[in-house]
Amino acid sequence: MSLPMRTHTRSTLLSGLVLAAAAPLASAGFYGDPPDATHPWAIHDENRPQPPRVEPGDYSSQEKPGKPPSDAIILFDGTPATLANWVSNQNPGEPTKWVVQDGSLQCVPGAGYVRTKQEWGDCQLHVEWSAPTKAEGSSQGRGNSGIFPMGQVEVQVLDNFNNPTYADGFAGSVYGVNPPLANAVRAPGTWQVYDIVFRRPVFKDGKMIEDGYLTVFVNGVLTQDHTPLEGGGGHRARSHNHPFPEKGPLQLQDHGNPVRYRNIWYRPLPARASEGGDVSHMSEAATAAKRAQIAAGLREEASKLQGKDKMLKQMESLVYTSDAATLTESTKASADFLASVKDLSGDKLEAQKGAIRQVHGALNYLSKFKILPAALPEEAALAGIIDKAGWNDKK
Ligand code: MG
Repeated sequence: MSLPMRTHTRSTLLSGLVLAAAAPLASAGFYGDPPDATHPWAIHDENRPQPPRVEPGDYSSQEKPGKPPSDAIILFDGTPATLANWVSNQNPGEPTKWVVQDGSLQCVPGAGYVRTKQEWGDCQLHVEWSAPTKAEGSSQGRGNSGIFPMGQVEVQVLDNFNNPTYADGFAGSVYGVNPPLANAVRAPGTWQVYDIVFRRPVFKDGKMIEDGYLTVFVNGVLTQDHTPLEGGGGHRARSHNHPFPEKGPLQLQDHGNPVRYRNIWYRPLPARASEGGDVSHMSEAATAAKRAQIAAGLREEASKLQGKDKMLKQMESLVYTSDAATLTESTKASADFLASVKDLSGDKLEAQKGAIRQVHGALNYLSKFKILPAALPEEAALAGIIDKAGWNDKK
C-alpha cells in the first residue's frame, strides 16, 4: 500500500516545517514528556532514529503492473529471469512447471504448488492475480489458488465474482479462519491486487506471547483487519496455535485452475516489541536496556565535547538513565556556567543570550520532570537573568 503522491508530498512538507520549528526548542529543553517505564524516548525525541527513506512506487493499472517501492524484494516481475526465484513445492530441488506467459506466472493444473527459493518471516506482501476469463466451475472450483506466507496460512485466491461459497473460503479470507470483511473481487480475467501484512506468532519458552496476524487489502478494500491467525487455518479442521518456523517460503497454490500472477514483491518488517523490537508497547526490561543504550551514546558524545556543550549533552543523558558521576560533573558545570555569565551586562550579556536560555531550558526540563534529585539553584538564578533582560518571551 502506498499513499497517493499528493498526500505524501504534503506530509513531507509538513514534517519539514515541524522539524525546522522543533530544532531550537529541542536543543533548548529536550522537548516533550520524558521517557518512562515502557517508552525509551521522550515525546518528539530528537535522539529517536529517523525513519529509513523509501522511494514509493506507483499503482498498477489493468494494462500495466505498478512499480514496487525502492526497498521491495522482487519475486516475480513478469520476466522469465524471475521465474528462477521459484521452484516446485513438492520437489524444491526442481524447477516449477508453472509457466511464464505474457508477463504473468501461470499455474499449470497438476504441476503442484510453487514456492520461492528465498525464505523469510514477517512482511508486507504485494501480489496480483487474475482468474481465467472464462468462468468455469462453481464455489471453490472456480479460479481457485492461494497465497501462503511462510507456507503456513492461506490468503484465499478465488473467483468470487458472482460465485458464492462458504464465507471463510472467500477471496481475501484467511482460509478456514476468518471471512473477508467484504467481497471486493473484480470480474474474472481482470487483475486483482492483494496487499498483505503478515506477522507470524511469537512464542517464548513454548508459550505463545503474541499471535500472528494478517491484514489484507483486496483491490484497496480492507478484508482482514489485523486478524489473529489462530494457528493458520486449514481445510475442514479447526486449527490451533503452534509455533511457526523462523522463516519460510511464499507458496502459491495449484488448485486445478490456471490462475495467473504478476508483480509479486515483499518488504521484510522489523521485529515487534514482543520479539525485542524497538517499537510501541516495549517491555519494561527492553525499555530500560534501550534507555541505558541511548544514555551511554550521549555520554560518549559528551566525552568529546567541552564546556557548555559537554554539560548539556551530559544532562541530556540523565533524561534516559541516572548516573552519579555524570550528575556530579554536570551539576558542577552548571554552577561554573552561572558564574561565567552572572556579572555580564550590555553587549557581553546579549552575546550569551542563546547559551543562557539553552542552559536554563535544560535545567528547567530536568527539574520539571524530577530527573534531578532537587531543582538546582542555578535554574532560578538563570531565570532571574532572563527575566531581567526581558528575554522571557512566551510567544
Ligand atoms: Mg485456495
